[in-house]
Amino acid sequence: MFEISVKRRFAAAHRLEGYQGQCSALHGHTWIVEVAVAGSGLDSCGMLADFRIIKETVDGIVTDLDHSYLNDIVFFSGGDPKNNPTAENIAFYIYGKVKEQIIKISPGLMVRGVRVWESPDASALYREDL
Ligand SMILES: [Zn+2]
Repeated sequence: MFEISVKRRFAAAHRLEGYQGQCSALHGHTWIVEVAVAGSGLDSCGMLADFRIIKETVDGIVTDLDHSYLNDIVFFSGGDPKNNPTAENIAFYIYGKVKEQIIKISPGLMVRGVRVWESPDASALYREDL
């Protein structure tokens, strides 16, 4: 089994509903998204997948989040604080989108995990095998 990962970044604002603390106020982050994909077969060039293709796939997803107010995105709205645009929920959102698209790149690829960093010291990981 091989695993490769790419990192992309986007800037976006959010606030956490129902949270008692600084993050209840409107503020922003430069979010870093790390997407890992895995598979067992290498292509004729010795690659699991072309990094460029994986980067383009993730870029196509994060471009909708870039310079946005994340709370306005339907996935994170609806009034339930459980849907807040936290690093955890953003990782879950991106995981679902990557999973939909990865099959189009190669049927042998699977998403291993999506990690979202909201600062250099704090990240959340979503993957399905935990
Ligand atoms: Zn924040």
